[in-house]
Amino acid sequence: MNTAVFGPLAWSVLQTTPRIAPFRSPHATELETSAPQAQAAYTERDDVRETLNVFYQALPYLIPCRWCRASCTRFVECISAYKWLQRPPRLTRGGTEYWMYLVHNLVNQKLDKRWYTDKALVYDGAVWASRDAYLCALLEWLTVVLCDLPIGLLAVPPREHATEGVAFVSVDVARAALEQWARDVVAPRAHWLDEAQRDGVALMHVVNAHVAHAHARMHRADVRADQRYETQRGVVSERAWTRVAWAMLYIEHLARLLRMAPDDSGAPLGSARLPLVVEQPLADTWRRKRHALADALHAWIAERPETFLTRDAAQRALHDARATVFPNTCPPFAQACSVVQAHYNPPAPAPPTVVGQ
Ligand SMILES: Cc1cc2nc3c(=O)[nH]c(=O)nc-3n(C[C@H](O)[C@H](O)[C@H](O)COP(=O)(O)OP(=O)(O)OC[C@H]3O[C@@H](n4cnc5c(N)ncnc54)[C@H](O)[C@@H]3O)c2cc1C
Repeated sequence: MNTAVFGPLAWSVLQTTPRIAPFRSPHATELETSAPQAQAAYTERDDVRETLNVFYQALPYLIPCRWCRASCTRFVECISAYKWLQRPPRLTRGGTEYWMYLVHNLVNQKLDKRWYTDKALVYDGAVWASRDAYLCALLEWLTVVLCDLPIGLLAVPPREHATEGVAFVSVDVARAALEQWARDVVAPRAHWLDEAQRDGVALMHVVNAHVAHAHARMHRADVRADQRYETQRGVVSERAWTRVAWAMLYIEHLARLLRMAPDDSGAPLGSARLPLVVEQPLADTWRRKRHALADALHAWIAERPETFLTRDAAQRALHDARATVFPNTCPPFAQACSVVQAHYNPPAPAPPTVVGQ
């Protein structure tokens, strides 16, 4: 995975998201605003808190790079998401942005880069200025995440796995497990946040407990499955299942966030944008597009969770969602996939220095 390509894309999405979330301005309490300067804008809504926490606490499972995931787990514990994003009854936009800024600084520190000391100076430079650009970046980010998920789980595994004691499940059992998980994920108000708040732990730990339980349930169901039928079988490791399960939860919560986002005056989200390739914005409104994308993402998770059985099907489902929002500019499937390849290719080697010219 090419961190230099996926990294700026991921940061721009992560850092722009608080600006589309429904924080309420303290100055005009009847209005919600997404103007970036409204740092003190706050929310007391549990659904907003839950969605933002899923969004940020999913990071250690979804970033498409193994080493980044490992260190991100520590950083999210260190700049405690529980303490700063989950526990406060009043969550501010400024607080959410500051948390993200600190996590970014920890990653910078790991990479021996600069430790920024002025959030205002650096942050806006990595926030999309337009809502269209944000949606495009979000879709590209989701595609990158999906491409890296360890799915295609049910390709028939090599025979030697059998002797290593790796558990197998049939396609039918895995499909049923995905359907059950999708029902849990789309439940209107997840009980997980309440559970996490009651126990005083980060939401990610509660989600992980449910994910592990669902994995164990799948294997128990497979043992009980009628072995008289010869079905295609594959391996669903707990690690793979965990990442797929988080991806489904993440996508459903993105849909919720897009539904909740305010229709504000159209003030730019940030003052600058990263040099990413974006589609031409349509003349359509932000409201129509965000609802169209939210509906498409939600319908995918709720009605077609089995698409997570293979990577190609999952990518196609996301591409369908993209075509719904950007019908005129959505590239053909193959072309969209090739754009994502850039995130995987290693950086080109520096040209050799020619001495004496
Ligand atoms: C969650 C996460 C974890 C990662 N972990 C790793 C890892 O372990 N190893 C690895 O090699 N790469 C990792 N990356 C990628 C890495 O962070 C960079 O994106 C990549 O190295 C490219 O760096 P860049 O110089 O283009 O700027 P980036 O770090 O991508 O930053 C983009 C822009 O954001 C702004 N910016 C910089 N710092 C901050 C800040 N603190 N707050 C707000 N804005 C800021 C600057 O304007 C900068 O140009 C990770 C990315 C993410 C999203």
